[in-house]
Amino acid sequence: MFGLMQDRPLLIASLIEHAATFHPETEIVSRLPEGAVHRTNWLGVRQRAKQVANAMAALGVQPGDRVGTLAWNSYRHLALYYGVSGSGAVLHTVNPRLFPEQIDYIVNHAEDKVLFFDITFAELVEKLAPLLKSVKTFVAMTDRAHMPAIQVPNLLCFEELLDAQSTDYTWPELDERTASSLCYTSGTTGNPKGVLYSHRSTVLHTLMELAPDTFGISSGETLLLVVPMFHANAWGTPYAAAMVGAKLVMPGPHLDGKSIYTLMRDEKVTFSQGVPTVWLMLFQYLDANPDVRPRELGVKRIGIGGAAVSRAMLERFENDFGAEVVQGWGMTETSPIGVISKLLPKHAALAGDELLKIKLKQGRGVWGVDLKIVDENGQALPWDGKAFGHLHVRGPWITSGYYKSEGGAVLDAEGFFPTGDVATIDPDGYLQLVDRAKDVIKSGGEWISSIDVENIAMGHPGVAEAAIIGVAHPKWQERPLLIVVKRPGQEVTRDGMLDYLGSRIAKWWLPDDVVFVDSLPHTATGKLLKTSLRAQFKDYRLPTA
Ligand code: ADP
Repeated sequence: MFGLMQDRPLLIASLIEHAATFHPETEIVSRLPEGAVHRTNWLGVRQRAKQVANAMAALGVQPGDRVGTLAWNSYRHLALYYGVSGSGAVLHTVNPRLFPEQIDYIVNHAEDKVLFFDITFAELVEKLAPLLKSVKTFVAMTDRAHMPAIQVPNLLCFEELLDAQSTDYTWPELDERTASSLCYTSGTTGNPKGVLYSHRSTVLHTLMELAPDTFGISSGETLLLVVPMFHANAWGTPYAAAMVGAKLVMPGPHLDGKSIYTLMRDEKVTFSQGVPTVWLMLFQYLDANPDVRPRELGVKRIGIGGAAVSRAMLERFENDFGAEVVQGWGMTETSPIGVISKLLPKHAALAGDELLKIKLKQGRGVWGVDLKIVDENGQALPWDGKAFGHLHVRGPWITSGYYKSEGGAVLDAEGFFPTGDVATIDPDGYLQLVDRAKDVIKSGGEWISSIDVENIAMGHPGVAEAAIIGVAHPKWQERPLLIVVKRPGQEVTRDGMLDYLGSRIAKWWLPDDVVFVDSLPHTATGKLLKTSLRAQFKDYRLPTA
């Protein structure tokens, strides 16, 4: 027997309708690529989104067609988020930080029909246009005065295209399983693969993201969206902001420490999300400007994911900003939220290192995501906080396979998605990431967690950033090499570094050598690019070898 409740589909358009109806005046602030700060509100975003939906029809975009964006976070990108998906087409957010060959591959693979781009990427688009076979129309996301002088076929101006459209539009009643957006993984190994989200998966993920025990976002919040809208839907926050009508602040391409700090201060930001590398840029700005007092900002929470939070980063946000750090683990394939780190009532009595140990774990399961860790044979391992194995996840916002069946069937026999990460889970359900399976260092049959050692190294006052990789060793198969970027004006030596680590980690985890470099390579989503580091140090001879 079925229940008798209304079977209303879960649709993305309902989010912008709610925001425009109940929070029409709440501000949406963007720093544009052109430089100026632009202000609109949820009512204005809905109007623009409806004009986008009408423009889709005018450009011959059919339901299910893919529409690409190469764009920073702004109200224009936000209008596309709602207008494209709301009309039944698929918003394909392309990461502009990828190599041009990868962008070409991705746009062709997705067969994008229209490509919207910020003027920052005008030259890139001009270069790529002849290769982008499926793209019929290019739209520069700017006004007439700032149109780039490039040679691209069928080039339109965003503001003109939208101004010409009616603001009347009735959102279609789509099946909630309709594809809404498409995001390719960064493809650190092999070709990028497309993750195709649905309206249903997006709305359910958004509900979870608002809960007090996750990111706890409400209408009183001012959100600074540092995580890019091309990185797993900016972790779902553009949708979450609309569902509660929060104020949304978007930095455009201006992600340097000073710009972020200024936006936080001027817009009275209460919560901001980003990967550790952007926060390191903010810290660099603060280091260079000791008179700046981050406590004056009044930022309450900082959401961090995409890479592990180090103790040094957590303590700096807590002590200097007076802000709580909320870590999350996830991936493009998980929409992206898999687990979120929040304390339990029983932790209230804890302090010092005991408390920090829990705070630094990636997080606990949220409703909707089933977790398991398994050994090499797929056998489930205990949740004792010690046994580590391959992390598999399952749930309504976890991918069931890649776009166009790239990579074949990916789920295990129980329908779980293998994440490629290695983790432990403790008896309270806190997941701790040991490593990506391909980054873990295998020394004499034992595993060394590069994440753990990197985080401890980052606690040294002289270290700006640190990476650990495995280097070939005749006896142990692999041994760890520590690669360090020094903090400007600070001195740190190889022996000093090893002494520091020696008192904090097991002896056999201690790196066999330390090298200093000017900078470390990162992926397009801000992670340490270990493949490139391993290639660079392939022939490195460890002193112990
Ligand atoms: P990519 O396309 O580079 O894989 P994702 O953002 O999807 O980009 O990356 C997901 C991966 O990032 C995870 O599989 C995990 O290895 C890493 N990651 C995400 N969040 C965390 C975290 N809080 N701590 C450590 N690693 C993380």
